[in-house]
Amino acid sequence: MTSTSITTKKPISLEFFPPRDIAAQEKLVRTAKQLLALRPEYVSVTFGAGGSTRSGTVDTVRMMQNLGFDAAPHLSCIGASRADLSEILDTYRQQEIRRIVALRGDIPSGMGGDRGDLHYAGDLVRFIREHSGDWFHIEVAAYPEMHPQAQSSRADLTHFVGKVNAGANSAITQYFFNADAYFDFVSRARAKGVTVPIVPGIMPITNHSQLVRFSDMCGAEIPRWIRQRLAEFGDDKASIKAFGLDVVTRLCQNLLDQGAPGLHFYTLNNADTTTAIVNALTR
Ligand code: FAD
Repeated sequence: MTSTSITTKKPISLEFFPPRDIAAQEKLVRTAKQLLALRPEYVSVTFGAGGSTRSGTVDTVRMMQNLGFDAAPHLSCIGASRADLSEILDTYRQQEIRRIVALRGDIPSGMGGDRGDLHYAGDLVRFIREHSGDWFHIEVAAYPEMHPQAQSSRADLTHFVGKVNAGANSAITQYFFNADAYFDFVSRARAKGVTVPIVPGIMPITNHSQLVRFSDMCGAEIPRWIRQRLAEFGDDKASIKAFGLDVVTRLCQNLLDQGAPGLHFYTLNNADTTTAIVNALTR
């Protein structure tokens, strides 16, 4: 929502991806209008690493602004030149965008040897600060269960601390289903002097095979008991949804009760599950 909205509740934010065609775009407008009722602090829009959805991200961010959201584009540096990134940052500044999610991005399959001018998210954060000063509030990614390519959880934490020290204002985590992993990560980051908010990223459970695919890609663990229950539901979509809603709502409440500063929802461009979870929470 616009920055004038007043709420005493812990903030939520919502993530979308750029629609691939007109039908998906129309659906996203309906979804976004429905989600306005949740009064998110901001919405974010993903970016295809290597620039594959660059115009889609810019257009979707503009659409979200027009609907009245405070919108934050994701920006990844992999494969990009400093000149490309400068141009994108200038476009967002002209559009009155004040928040960016700064990422390295995943290396797209088929990308040749040219990985661009900046190799890690920390380099991008430094670059944004050099280029745009304090104009943007910078979010970075955090991995309570460790980034899948990290050498060790210790090395990954050191790199996370480096991103924050380079000028990030807050962090959003990869999704997880084990609250202890999040609180352990936060306490290790605090012990290293990190004071910025670390907001849990929340993945609603609505589709078993999709969840397994995403989790295998990004290194998020699906606990055995959840995998087992989902497998037993088979094609019974209603039971998967009801179970997922129950599990994720309890996770969110637990996170908020134990001190998480807010929640960031990976909406997958759907309104119903995120709405049901948020409306069930005491914030
Ligand atoms: P980095 O922080 O750069 O870390 C990447 C790896 O390099 C880690 O293993 C880290 O330990 C290591 N590392 C970091 N710095 C150094 C260093 N100086 N020296 C050596 N090793 C280092 N992907 C997209 O393509 N588009 C999106 O819109 C998108 N949105 C996301 C939003 C969130 C909230 C999250 C959690 C992830 C998102 N991703 C997105 C996925 C993300 O791009 C991948 O996880 C990517 O592999 C890592 O990006 P990063 O910004 O975390 O990278």
